[in-house]
Amino acid sequence: MELETLVIHADRSAEDDTDIAPALHPASTFRARSAGEFATLANAARPERYYTRYGNPTHARCERLLARLEGCEAALLFASGMGAISTAVLAQVAAGDHVVAQASHYMGTTRLLTDLLPRFGVGVTLVDQADAAAFARAIVPETRLIVVETPSNPVLLLTDLAAVARLARDRGITTLADNTFASPVNQRPREFGIDLVAHSATKYLGGHSDLVAGVVAGSTEAVERIWKTSIVLGATASPFDAWLLLRGLRTLPLRVERQSATALELARFLEGHPAVSRVHYPGLESHLQHDLARRQMKAFGGVLSFEVAGGYAAAQRLVGSLELAANAVSLGAVETLAVHAASVWEGSLGPEEIAQAGISPALVRLAVGLESAQDLKADLARALAAV
Ligand SMILES: *Cc1c(COP(=O)(O)O)cnc(C)c1O
Repeated sequence: MELETLVIHADRSAEDDTDIAPALHPASTFRARSAGEFATLANAARPERYYTRYGNPTHARCERLLARLEGCEAALLFASGMGAISTAVLAQVAAGDHVVAQASHYMGTTRLLTDLLPRFGVGVTLVDQADAAAFARAIVPETRLIVVETPSNPVLLLTDLAAVARLARDRGITTLADNTFASPVNQRPREFGIDLVAHSATKYLGGHSDLVAGVVAGSTEAVERIWKTSIVLGATASPFDAWLLLRGLRTLPLRVERQSATALELARFLEGHPAVSRVHYPGLESHLQHDLARRQMKAFGGVLSFEVAGGYAAAQRLVGSLELAANAVSLGAVETLAVHAASVWEGSLGPEEIAQAGISPALVRLAVGLESAQDLKADLARALAAV
């Protein structure tokens, strides 16, 4: 089945086959019909009707669809993207182990890797994601996990998924890809040999800025191991958010295709604008990794970033002058959002980390929504004229 069909049908199971819309199961706990059934449920892996931190029928329905979307055997839903990533990483490593990851990651992932893991005796090496050989050089005998994120936030650098997967497989190392920015519509890391795929479902998967959730997909065995850690760490999704996520997923392919087309149009417009000094978007021929983008992505996503010629103050003024694009963090939803990147990151990353992540003081990140491309272009043109 194509993705457009999967999102409509892949969550159905024999039990709920007559419900056209999914049922919402808010129950935190479920009654067993006999002592024997209770004992079975209490000791099962991933029971759907036992206690909601262990599993829930609405979660299960959503997880079936998410696994299919990423071409994986299984998926596990979480209360947030960070809940998913932290649990997946902590399920994988122990004191003495080593992790290879990127210099540029989502901020929470960077904090997990550089602050939390070292406190538990896990070594971490961060590498330039655009250099596949840098991953190979960073691997040591203790390396257990490679974490990648492509395109990365906020300068849209890419990681060669096939190259990293090949390196890891030869050495028995697990790979985890944060696929939030591309979404499974534009990129399916499993097809390149990546073991685990994580998302902030808060973004494209949900798509309406009304839920917070995360997901990890992979083999049944790997997801079961992560589930055992998840019932201890407890980043359990709300059943209502799982239900909203199912609703959002129905339109995922339509939304992402349109957002990607609009983002490409806006990137081209900004690249030709005299008040913009640089545009970062993998769909542009000027992107240093455009060939890789065409190899591993179907379209290039709804997020782009650009540098305003006037510097820090001009970038801040520009974001404040936009009328359609709201000045808010997050991405992947129906409404366009814009942020001045340095304002977001200067509170939690030091100046060196900001520079290492390639964040210029003049950088603006635009997360394109579903408004008309013409209207968004006019909004940008007016705001650029004002600065
Ligand atoms: C937002 C985001 C996260 C964190 O997800 P939450 O749902 O906010 O916890 C992780 N990775 C990427 C790439 C993100 O954009």
